[in-house]
Amino acid sequence: MNSRSNASRIKADTIVIGAGPAGLGAALALGDSAVVLESRETVGGLCRSLTLDGAIFDLGGHSFTSPHPAIRRLVFDALEMEEQNRDAWCWVNGEWVRYPFQQHFSELADSDFRHACQIGLEAASGWEAATNFDQYLDRRFGRGITELFMRPYNRKLWGADLTRLDTDWVTERVAEPFGSAENCMSSENGRRSPLQKESIIAYPAKGGYGEIFQALAQKVPDLRFGKCVTSIDPQTSTLRIASGETASWSRLISTLPLPALLRLISNVPDSIRAAVSALEALPITLVMLVLKGQHEAVRQRIYCPDENISGHKIVLNHNSSRWLRALPRHSVQVELSEFSPFSSGTNDTALVSAVVAGLLRMAVIPSPDYVRCTKVLRIPLGYPVQTHSRGDIVTLAQRWLSEHRIYTVGRFGEWAYINSDEALYRGHCLGTKLAMIESQAPCFV
Ligand SMILES: Cc1cc2nc3c(=O)[nH]c(=O)nc-3n(C[C@H](O)[C@H](O)[C@H](O)COP(=O)(O)OP(=O)(O)OC[C@H]3O[C@@H](n4cnc5c(N)ncnc54)[C@H](O)[C@@H]3O)c2cc1C
Repeated sequence: MNSRSNASRIKADTIVIGAGPAGLGAALALGDSAVVLESRETVGGLCRSLTLDGAIFDLGGHSFTSPHPAIRRLVFDALEMEEQNRDAWCWVNGEWVRYPFQQHFSELADSDFRHACQIGLEAASGWEAATNFDQYLDRRFGRGITELFMRPYNRKLWGADLTRLDTDWVTERVAEPFGSAENCMSSENGRRSPLQKESIIAYPAKGGYGEIFQALAQKVPDLRFGKCVTSIDPQTSTLRIASGETASWSRLISTLPLPALLRLISNVPDSIRAAVSALEALPITLVMLVLKGQHEAVRQRIYCPDENISGHKIVLNHNSSRWLRALPRHSVQVELSEFSPFSSGTNDTALVSAVVAGLLRMAVIPSPDYVRCTKVLRIPLGYPVQTHSRGDIVTLAQRWLSEHRIYTVGRFGEWAYINSDEALYRGHCLGTKLAMIESQAPCFV
């Protein structure tokens, strides 16, 4: 093992900050040359799970798919996973339509709506040249699909101004109207395809989604909990931890949100600080409801554009595995963005009442008495917003940081709207690359 520590000093070739998917991916590639410092007492980051009154919740609905064969192998070798069809639905104008709406609008009962979607789609064109997300929606899906589902759903999630979002992420996250190959990377542009109607998803055969990262962490040689990094000095290649310890490194991998990382470093140029302050994150609120007993509905996800229903996404997590389904208590989780009128300025009691009212209207639960207990969790950084300037800002910051042998990776490390498999993959790629190109002797202080 190439790392040593005493009560107050940690020394390592590479320090990895954060034991979420990206940090674990990097650590697995670097082996015993890396020390991972994690502020919490557990691994997984946004992929950790929690138990509430006997029911298991993830932080928002989580399921595993990956176009990267090596990452799939890594996970499936680490623990038993269960695969099943993703049973996702849209609630549109009081009707159930299978997800994705753009492939299933013909299931709508109203013939005028069906017709509007069909002729809009037939006339849709020019999306390749769209300059923002709002324009892309009209051009890709036509007026009917956009007005009935795409625009109201995405406004509920991202806020009213969809023109501030770029289009560089949409082909990976928004399904095409006619479907596309599942779980693959395009050989033309290196991009992955979004979830489809027939998507096969995987989930730990036992426990919550966080079990994946608990299992992977077993293979990490040096992982330390309760180590919140509070300052970084690139001049001396040292960092401080809240507990009073210091650590010295030859190179640093950070999975912290980029603005948070820069706040820990004193000598960052003002121009970079100013640029990074323009990165936009979307806070989310999760309302978790433990139900009395087991819940019959088979649906896993519900996407809801209706502005009168609180929450854009509803997760029935107990349908993620047979093991969860067999638990005596099932659960429903409703995800709201900060743009939801229900989440901002509403106290938790009123928020839960609004959420329950919405679930009753959709008949997801039969009566308010069905809810045993609830928890409201606010996550300040839920989604990195793919604004037009995001790519340039990240490149600018990463260039300066890498000159100081600091490398950032992960969902908020790169400010990229990526899933856990991609964070694992990118962390692993970075670790592998650094191990190969930076093999000089460690420069301990
Ligand atoms: C609502 C929602 C739904 C999602 N659904 C899916 C899904 O279905 N499938 C999927 O694969 N992915 C999903 N994701 C994405 C997935 O959660 C993330 O992509 C993944 O967790 C990113 O990993 P990361 O390592 O980059 O960051 P994180 O998971 O955020 O990990 C960062 C780690 O750094 C630690 N840390 C922070 N500050 C410090 C500090 N100062 N010192 C030391 N440690 C620190 C944190 O405690 C954390 O453990 C979803 C995310 C959300 C929000």
